[in-house]
Amino acid sequence: MIDIAIVNGTVLPMGGRPRIDNGVVTITGNSITAVGPASEVSVTGAKKVIDAHGEVVMPGFANSHTHIASNLLLRGLLEDVLLFEWLQTMWKLKRNFDHDTLYWASLCGLLEMTKAGITSFNEHFDAYAVEPEIEALDVIPLRATLGHGFADRGLYESITEKSWRTLENFGDAVAAHHRTRDDMLWMALSPHAVYSCGADMWNLVRQVADTYHAPIHTHLSEGMQEVRYCLDTYGLRPTQWLHSLGFLGPDVTAAHCSQLDATDIRLIAETGTKIAHCPICNAKLGSGTMPLREVIDAGITVGLATDGPASHNSSDLFEEMKFAGLIHKTNTGDVEFLKIGQLLELSTCEGAKAMNRPDTGRLQPGYKADVIVVRLDTAHSQPVYDPLAALVYSARADDVQHTIVNGRVLMENRQVIGVDEDEIRANFHEKAHALKERSLR
Ligand SMILES: [Zn+2]
Repeated sequence: MIDIAIVNGTVLPMGGRPRIDNGVVTITGNSITAVGPASEVSVTGAKKVIDAHGEVVMPGFANSHTHIASNLLLRGLLEDVLLFEWLQTMWKLKRNFDHDTLYWASLCGLLEMTKAGITSFNEHFDAYAVEPEIEALDVIPLRATLGHGFADRGLYESITEKSWRTLENFGDAVAAHHRTRDDMLWMALSPHAVYSCGADMWNLVRQVADTYHAPIHTHLSEGMQEVRYCLDTYGLRPTQWLHSLGFLGPDVTAAHCSQLDATDIRLIAETGTKIAHCPICNAKLGSGTMPLREVIDAGITVGLATDGPASHNSSDLFEEMKFAGLIHKTNTGDVEFLKIGQLLELSTCEGAKAMNRPDTGRLQPGYKADVIVVRLDTAHSQPVYDPLAALVYSARADDVQHTIVNGRVLMENRQVIGVDEDEIRANFHEKAHALKERSLR
């Protein structure tokens, strides 16, 4: 039995598999059941047929590091400043966050991602509540890993007590939500960074993660100020200090890693730690550019990520792919580095692995049915000699026509099903402006 058959499209399976012109993808329940040329895959009896003529059928994007709710509230608030000044201003709003404001921000973020073809995301709750986003995921159910945020010093000192309490009671969050909703929703642990969490906190996070088999998602080596802090405080670079605590491992997604030396890269590779690479955010905040070629050569799993909309201004992996291609060609002086096919893999199957959700990100039987259909018949993508080139360097988030997550059509012909988009945008706008008024008087 076939629930959905997508026909007539150019299929990009990813995971090293070649493109299929006039391909077919079939979905049954929450999984991909067949992928191949039209001549080989039967769609007889399919309950729903989607015609993808002139379009690309590919896995949805995996956004391996973001902060949807909080950062949406801060998008466009503060431009043209360095990371630490930016964090300090953001904090003035963060301390006034409330449930309703976070709910509408989360819902608007989920709406934006669905419309941009992002089907799974790795959320880092940077000092704000998880519950409103869990509620919003009832309305727009993307595949999500929600990392509870922890910190106990510096700018983040005020969440110390809450952090310890949440860590000690993490079993409750696991019991209530981890691997629920047909395994779509995962709980994770998100210590903030080496400058905002002490050794005791890192050690407890490691213990709790081992106890509950929950992934870890943190910021690491984001800029020289962090490296200098760690060297001054502990006599070690951030990666090397976390390694000395026995913290690193394959369950850790480290976002940024924009400042790595050869020893850092070796330790990340040896421990199987994964990296979420955010080149736009790093460039915008002056944090440096990760040595991607060395990271890939070392065999490290790395995915592309947007980071939050406060430091990127959009949840758009099309932009991220294009920027990544440009900055790494410039930095290496090698235009042959980071080819179009590799950029697509970094934002789909590699991104999924980088956030420890390796059951998505490919169109292959047995993988989760997280699929997008992208039109290439637009003026800005013509004449489409190569669909991969069009996707990476010409297409835009708005070209995504359909978004399917876990076998369910969430967006069809750019309409997100079952939601009132005007209401979401209007409520979020009102809540965000009210928050700014009461926070930055
Ligand atoms: Zn971040």
